[in-house]
Amino acid sequence: MLKPNSNSDLELMQRCIALAADACINDGEYPFAAVIASKGTFPCESANRAKRDRDVNSHAEIAALSKAQLMRGADLSDCTMYATVEPCALCSYAIRDSSHRKGCLWPSRL
Ligand SMILES: [Zn+2]
Repeated sequence: MLKPNSNSDLELMQRCIALAADACINDGEYPFAAVIASKGTFPCESANRAKRDRDVNSHAEIAALSKAQLMRGADLSDCTMYATVEPCALCSYAIRDSSHRKGCLWPSRL
């Protein structure tokens, strides 16, 4: 198991878990969320939206990547994604395609 690199890793994961809990409790959504950050800043986030949007592609990771790329462009190579679970095959492909060289962290990887 990897150790967190900084307090910022834990804070960003806590934000991710809070987003997922909020979406689950208040919107009846699946309890998934993702936060994207660069060196502890630039938090760009989304909870899962599949039920709300009635779109099976509205995974938290995909929604967060879309927001981040609208704000910063296609290359997110200096960013780290924090997610509440290990990304599915669809999200894993999108993460790789967005030049996420720093990868994705989820609770069992911290
Ligand atoms: Zn997914």
